[in-house]
Amino acid sequence: MNAHIYDAIVIGAGGMGSATAYHLAKSGADVLVLEQFQRGHIFGSSHGETRIIRFFYDKPFYTELMKTAYTEWRALESASGKPLLFITGSVSIGAKGNPYGRAVRHSLDVAGVESEWWDATELAERFPQFRAMNDMDILWQKDTGFLRAAECVLTHLQLAEQHGATVREETPVTDIDWQADVPTVRTETGQFQGRKVVVTAGAWAGTLLAELNLPLTVTKQQVCYYQPTDTDLFQPDRFPVFTEATVDGEFIYGIPAFGSYDTGGGLKMARHGRGQVVSPDTCDRTPDSDYIAHIDVYVQERIPEVGKSTHAEVCLYTETPDEDFIIDAHPDCSDVLIATGFSGHGFKFCALIGRIMSELVRNGETGFDLHPFRIHREHTISSGIPRLSA
Ligand SMILES: Cc1cc2nc3c(=O)[nH]c(=O)nc-3n(C[C@H](O)[C@H](O)[C@H](O)COP(=O)(O)OP(=O)(O)OC[C@H]3O[C@@H](n4cnc5c(N)ncnc54)[C@H](O)[C@@H]3O)c2cc1C
Repeated sequence: MNAHIYDAIVIGAGGMGSATAYHLAKSGADVLVLEQFQRGHIFGSSHGETRIIRFFYDKPFYTELMKTAYTEWRALESASGKPLLFITGSVSIGAKGNPYGRAVRHSLDVAGVESEWWDATELAERFPQFRAMNDMDILWQKDTGFLRAAECVLTHLQLAEQHGATVREETPVTDIDWQADVPTVRTETGQFQGRKVVVTAGAWAGTLLAELNLPLTVTKQQVCYYQPTDTDLFQPDRFPVFTEATVDGEFIYGIPAFGSYDTGGGLKMARHGRGQVVSPDTCDRTPDSDYIAHIDVYVQERIPEVGKSTHAEVCLYTETPDEDFIIDAHPDCSDVLIATGFSGHGFKFCALIGRIMSELVRNGETGFDLHPFRIHREHTISSGIPRLSA
């Protein structure tokens, strides 16, 4: 038995765990982070060059939370001296009168966040890269952009270490003994005690907390990258983040070209959801050629100058039935805190979730309203309105 008792043990060093470790260590807590793989690995949900950050949601509480999330990301940039958040604005496209577009606009209005309906002429003037937009609702929101996803995770971890956190890589946690006097975390090579334990285990949370039977489904998701011939046309200063609810009932999204093409960057395009249910341990991480061909067809119609995809990557969603997060204490042990189920849209919240988890560990409470994220809420499978992730 290791005699040292940490203030907090964080299980999982992905988007949420790295942010939690940073906020805890910055506040002076003695933190141990246990990660089953190496930092920055590609087997979970937080790898790759970019993730969308946006205010627009069909549920107003997310829009409200994003006000602080943006501030936390800017604070991370200041603390690290690294540019991590790029603002491009966004266009959200959907069939005329589609309920999702209306709900999004409502959330933005309620939160006092500006947005504009555009018609096809305005879109063509601002972004001639898009084709054939007649009879669509087009919503412009100027604050949308993207985060450098993998770099954000590494930065949170680096700063956590600078503030004294210990990060142990290649250390899978096999069990949490929350009934012990001090919660005890077991690994294949030893065990550790923490006054609090934070479980940010992403797609593996369901297995690690099997006794809770959490309503989590892990799915295989894929993203395609493009290298347009005229690269300038699709840089973040010339091309926006965009989303489209297609007439076929799909949600497609795109992020401007970013990162070196040689190291896996490019303009990113994907379809949200409809992924195959998988186990994170056995999931085949090879992209499917059918999927890539499907996105290529969309691209040919909507933004033909982009060409064909050059490569693709696989990533996991850990979904709840209502796609809302789980942030709560273990029902039988208030010293074990859980943050999982971030579905296809959690990354933009990492910096804020890190702060919230740190407040819960240190103070037992937070000023943010976590009711929508309770474990024992009614998980309604909504609604007929397709939800947009990313
Ligand atoms: C294709 C795709 C596109 C997305 N696009 C967006 C977007 O544009 N905008 C947005 O906001 N969100 C987006 N998301 C969602 C977002 O990326 C995720 O919600 C977020 O990254 C989840 O972070 P996490 O920390 O919960 O999981 P992860 O980053 O996977 O972290 C969990 C970590 O826990 C570790 N772990 C698990 N079990 C153990 C154990 N037993 N012992 C030790 N370590 C363990 C894992 O190895 C992993 O490192 C997207 C997701 C995908 C897959």
